Amino acid sequence: MTQDELFKVLVAHCKEYGFIFPSSEIYDGLAAVYDYGQMGVELKNNIKSYWWNAMTRLNENIVGIDSCIFMHPRIWEASGHVSAFNDPLIDNKDSKKRYRADVLIEDYLGKLEEKVNKEVEKGRRKFGESFDEAQFRATNPNVLREQAKYDQVHERYVKAEKAGDFAEYRQIIIDCNIVCPISGTCNWTDVRQFNLMFSTSMGSTSEGANIIYLRPETAQGIFVNYLNVQKTGRMKIPFGIAQIGKAFRNEIVARQFIFRMREFEQMEMQFFIKPGTELEWFAKWKEQRMKWHVNLGMGAENYRFHDHEKLAHYANAATDIEFQFPFGFKELEGIHSRTNFDLGNHQKFSGKKIQYFDNETNESYTPYVIETSIGVDRTVLAVLSHSFHEEKLENGETRVVLSIPPALAPVKAAVLPLVKKDGLPEVAQKIMNDLKYDFNCQYEDKDSIGKRYRRQDAIGTPFCITIDHETLNDNCVTVRDRDTMQQERVPIAELHDLIDKRVNLNNLLRNL
Ligand code: ATP
Repeated sequence: MTQDELFKVLVAHCKEYGFIFPSSEIYDGLAAVYDYGQMGVELKNNIKSYWWNAMTRLNENIVGIDSCIFMHPRIWEASGHVSAFNDPLIDNKDSKKRYRADVLIEDYLGKLEEKVNKEVEKGRRKFGESFDEAQFRATNPNVLREQAKYDQVHERYVKAEKAGDFAEYRQIIIDCNIVCPISGTCNWTDVRQFNLMFSTSMGSTSEGANIIYLRPETAQGIFVNYLNVQKTGRMKIPFGIAQIGKAFRNEIVARQFIFRMREFEQMEMQFFIKPGTELEWFAKWKEQRMKWHVNLGMGAENYRFHDHEKLAHYANAATDIEFQFPFGFKELEGIHSRTNFDLGNHQKFSGKKIQYFDNETNESYTPYVIETSIGVDRTVLAVLSHSFHEEKLENGETRVVLSIPPALAPVKAAVLPLVKKDGLPEVAQKIMNDLKYDFNCQYEDKDSIGKRYRRQDAIGTPFCITIDHETLNDNCVTVRDRDTMQQERVPIAELHDLIDKRVNLNNLLRNL
């Protein structure tokens, strides 16, 4: 199966098993908006707990807040979103489809990079142990040709990006013969700017309605509460404020399932520091955040940093943590050193003094900020796409399994009486009642045990507990492991500890 096909199968699986549904489906859906079903919401909540606890419990100097989606419209002027939160749009005149010009160029560059990497891998296979990658890259004619193409386009792109030169974006697209995937033509309009914020009005027109925006990021809710939290929490710099919440962007390119949505959720933490210490803290948070990801056990090789070449005018360092999605390495989280841009601007626009008084040095300053910003939905997609497998079994059958990290799995254990009689359901109910306070469990008594195992594999349940006639004599049950499919006999009294060891979120947190 190609990665493309696999992705389609995954999307269908997410719907079939209650993870993710297209929004408003009975009305034919709403583009780039998705709802989480009964399984999806559990997975999402577990991801949020992992992040929230890692931030607010493991760091004594980080606290959380929950600010509103609606905020004073001046906030978005101060933050620069009204004037600069734009995407460069381009339309194909034949298909009438709209694209982001920067994404078209970046995808093209990604393909060139892939070509180079494929050549290098070929070389590695050919030369085996004696392979010298640096020498190969410097001498292989195929690599040199593709790399030169890449470098040339990349240089033009970075220059155009820095200068905000959209005519040059269009020229790059034309010169590289980047075609519309629908029409296959290179018949493009000019590139135009498009603001991504959704607006609505607050109050009735008679009392003079105000235009307000649905927040495009949660961060500003943190900045405007900086003084409240610092004062009431008696926080000393360095300290952080964390928040999880919805954000809205009128994305033009609505593709790739929950990777790019118009309504999505972010987990953001702003870390307030003394000016001059930002690069040190930036490095610390880079390391810390990568550790958080890798700790999930989905393979360190599936993550990489992508340092920004073009920095926003207020930033002095920025990087993305990218994950290897089925459609390539793409941004999962952003880490930015934002200087005092946000607090400074809010001070200017609101007229309120936003300063920190340092008791030790007797000086006041506007704190600098390191931001870590991760998408909940992209993390859900990373987990689902990495966990989804179709396996061929020894008996020739196939099984679909979601090997979700156990601490994130929506259901931790399924309790399955072998038959619906002979007192087995009663024992199963008792086990259920014992476990349900600590673990999300599912009780299932329909269909053959084999079918029930398959259903639990498909939603990623780490343990299946089967109660059979023997249980009535020996007080033991059969526990089946999702990943190995091994079965073992376990005393009912030991069930809790066995499950807890594998699925307890605190064990993940302890490794951080
Ligand atoms: P991209 O370049 O992919 O549009 P971005 O750089 O605009 O992303 P940020 O503004 O840094 O993203 O937002 C922080 C995080 O929020 C991203 O790393 C991503 O995980 C998430 N995010 C941003 N936009 C979306 C979206 N439209 N749908 C889902 N998640 C998103």
